[in-house]
Amino acid sequence: MPELPEVETVRAGIEQHVVGRTVAAAEVFNPRAVRRDLAGPDGFAAAMAGRTFLRAERRGKYLWFALDDTEALLAHLGMSGQFIVGDPDRPLSPHVRVRFTFTDGGPDLRFTDQRTFGHLWLVPLADPDDRSRVVPEPIAHIAPDPLESAFDPKAFAERLARKKTQLKRALLDQSLISGIGNIYADEALWRAKLHWARSTETLRPAEVSRLLEAVRDVLSEALKAGGTSFDALYVNVNGESGYFDRSLNAYGREGEPCGRCATPIRRDAFMNRSSYSCPTCQKAVGAVRAQVGAAR
Ligand SMILES: [Zn+2]
Repeated sequence: MPELPEVETVRAGIEQHVVGRTVAAAEVFNPRAVRRDLAGPDGFAAAMAGRTFLRAERRGKYLWFALDDTEALLAHLGMSGQFIVGDPDRPLSPHVRVRFTFTDGGPDLRFTDQRTFGHLWLVPLADPDDRSRVVPEPIAHIAPDPLESAFDPKAFAERLARKKTQLKRALLDQSLISGIGNIYADEALWRAKLHWARSTETLRPAEVSRLLEAVRDVLSEALKAGGTSFDALYVNVNGESGYFDRSLNAYGREGEPCGRCATPIRRDAFMNRSSYSCPTCQKAVGAVRAQVGAAR
C-alpha cells in the first residue's frame, strides 16, 4: 500500500510531466475509479475536458491537482493505484481505469489500479482558518503531515498528550498527524527508542521531539529511496517492494538482531496487524509492560 513517500514520488512525477498542461479528453474505462464523483463517469469526463493542471500537491496519502482557485482533481491511490505518463499511442493495459490526453498531443496520463480501491474525484477546494494553505474539502479534516510546512510540532505535542492512547495508534491517527502507515510508524518508534504501546500522556517533551525527528528522518530517507527508481516517463509508485526495504530496522524483521544492540526484534499483534520493536532499545514501561507481556 502506498504510504507518504510513495505518494510524494508520484506527486513529484506529475508536477514534472503534467503540471501546466491542458486536458484534451478524459476517458473513464471503469466507473469505480470515479465512484465518489457525484457527476458520474460521463459528467466527470465532461468536467475535466479543457482543464489545466496548475499544481500537484499532497497531504498524507492524498494527492490533488488544482485546476483553478476553487476546484481540484483529488486522487487516492488505494492499495494499488498508479499514475503512469507515457506515449499516447502505446497499448492500453487492462488495468487502466482513467486516461487523460492533452491538447499538446504529448505524453498521456493513465490512472491504473489493479485492485480498484483507488479513485479520482473532482472536488471544491476549502480554505479553513487553521490551515496555512488550501486543501480539498473532503480531506480538510486530515491533519498536516510531518513533511508539510503547515505541520505545527507544538500543536501536535499538545494534542498527543490529550489523546491518552497507545503511541502507535496515535501515529496512525490521520486526524492527529497524517501520512504515517504501519511500516514507517514501526521504523520511527525504533529510531526514537520508544515502545509502541506507551501511553501518549506519559511522553515527555524531549521524547516527543525525538519521535518527530525520527518520523521526519524515516519519511525523508524513504522518499529519497523512492525517488531513485523513476525515469523520465514513468511516474513511480514504489509500494512495499521499494528500495527502502533494505533500510528497514524493525518492520518485518522478527527474530533478526537489532541493528543497535543485537537483541532479536520482537513481533506483537497490533490492530489485526503487527508491531515490530526491539525489546531492549524500546523498553515497555509501567502498565504497558503488563499489557504486552514484556516479561516473556
Ligand atoms: Zn535494540
